[in-house]
Amino acid sequence: MTAASPTLPHRAGLLPDEAVRLLGHLGVDERIGRKLLAQAVGHARTDLDGVTDVKKTTLRAIAEATTAAPLQIVERELAPDGFLKLLIELPDGQRVETVRIPVPCEAPGADLSAFEGKEKKYIVCVSSQVGCALACSFCATGALGFTRNLSAAEIVGQVLAVKREADRPVRGVVFMGMGEPFLNYENVLRAAKILSHPSGGAIDGRAITISTAGIVPGIRRFTAEGHKHRLAVSLTQATPKKRLPLMPIERVHPTEELVAALHDHAKARRTRVLVEYVLLGGVNDAPEDAVALTKLLDPKLVKLDLIDVNGGVGGYARSTREARSRFLDVLAGDGGLPFGIRYSGGQDVAAGCGQLAAGELGRAPGPRIAP
Ligand code: SF4
Repeated sequence: MTAASPTLPHRAGLLPDEAVRLLGHLGVDERIGRKLLAQAVGHARTDLDGVTDVKKTTLRAIAEATTAAPLQIVERELAPDGFLKLLIELPDGQRVETVRIPVPCEAPGADLSAFEGKEKKYIVCVSSQVGCALACSFCATGALGFTRNLSAAEIVGQVLAVKREADRPVRGVVFMGMGEPFLNYENVLRAAKILSHPSGGAIDGRAITISTAGIVPGIRRFTAEGHKHRLAVSLTQATPKKRLPLMPIERVHPTEELVAALHDHAKARRTRVLVEYVLLGGVNDAPEDAVALTKLLDPKLVKLDLIDVNGGVGGYARSTREARSRFLDVLAGDGGLPFGIRYSGGQDVAAGCGQLAAGELGRAPGPRIAP
């Protein structure tokens, strides 16, 4: 298979109106634009064979002016719990990782309550940037620094890579892979639109979750634009002074502004925002850390998603059973917060939350916020 051309427009990244704008001179109208999207994303096809009711000469001209080449899968690693990590090479040779999450998960006791349902399906965790500038201290991607944003076609392409070989339907997408989605806002939202478009991925917009480390202007814009997609915010510490060394973005967008933005989003959308909290043993798992959370967050507007730290980045250890249970007691008590414990699978193949590094750990890091 040939690598996608970095210069020709990619059909998996073209909404029908964009196809008209870009290819109108070839006779492409909205109707043909929808057919192109259905072929490239709905059917995950890289050719134009079988596109009906369009003149052959028009299809030939479109084929010459565009590409639908797939992203290259360089490596596949399947974990015993059914999580599959794909190492993907982009057209310019940069690499990202994508995780296929089985639902219901094969692992006993796995809790993926955000995606409840009896049907066997896959959720795809996509990357939105090569590396990341935000340098969260517990994250392998953050250790790489930032290289570049992914295009909408490259984000959609990760879902297509999973879809082409999947034995179950893909019903959800989470922007929780490499990168900060709201620092690549336009392409992320365009990819989400393509993936939820009825002629495109046809994934329920509410089954697409965008997770941010706290880019407040991005959250405000996302709220104002009224998207259906779910918002998740990574907080990981409720006390700003203690959050700063864990998540340096605190210096740019302080906790107080972040929480105001996520509460406003929840009110505007009449839904709870998912607040992610990576439990770091001996660092943010004391009862007073839980009390700080209950004081900071409105229990009617959020749901706390607790995630055990993965991997060796930052030298963190998991919470002990005792510390975790004292922490949960506070959350479950009067004035506490609704919470769930996220099963972060795929750890045997470094596909868990915070472990994605595209095999690049050890190289000189790109630009990032000073920790
Ligand atoms: S946790 Fe997310 S925002 Fe933080 S460094 Fe990792 S990829 Fe970037």
